[in-house]
Amino acid sequence: MPNWEIHNKWTSKAGIDPLIANFVDRNIDYGTEWAFNENQQFDEELDEPISLRQLKFFYKKDLEKKYSNDLLYVKAYYLHHLLDFLKETRFSLNDLDKIFFEFLKKKVFREVLNEKNEKITFDKQIQEIRVIIEKNKEELINDLK
Ligand SMILES: [Zn+2]
Repeated sequence: MPNWEIHNKWTSKAGIDPLIANFVDRNIDYGTEWAFNENQQFDEELDEPISLRQLKFFYKKDLEKKYSNDLLYVKAYYLHHLLDFLKETRFSLNDLDKIFFEFLKKKVFREVLNEKNEKITFDKQIQEIRVIIEKNKEELINDLK
């Protein structure tokens, strides 16, 4: 994984509150157990891939913040996994189509089902992350070295 400084720098570029960013980053890298054990509903779904469980958990955190329409926990989830993915794979940042295609296929989920069994997709958040990467490509290449 990229170091904390790099994670923090890019979440702040994405306009994510540092408290939310820290919570998400730490949760993904260290402590998912305590977070998920609190939620009974996850117990029946233990076969779920961990990154889908994370996404559901962060989406739920966003819904609890009723005063904000922006899904910042979800956005931080995508940004964290994308930075890790870029560091691991070393894809050229010049081919963002390929990067996002592989990223969405192998590393994360792009939607969840809500309590009414309706599909909630996060294409807007994924697109926003992509725009930030596109605008700051050189800087990111440097940060991932
Ligand atoms: Zn990580």
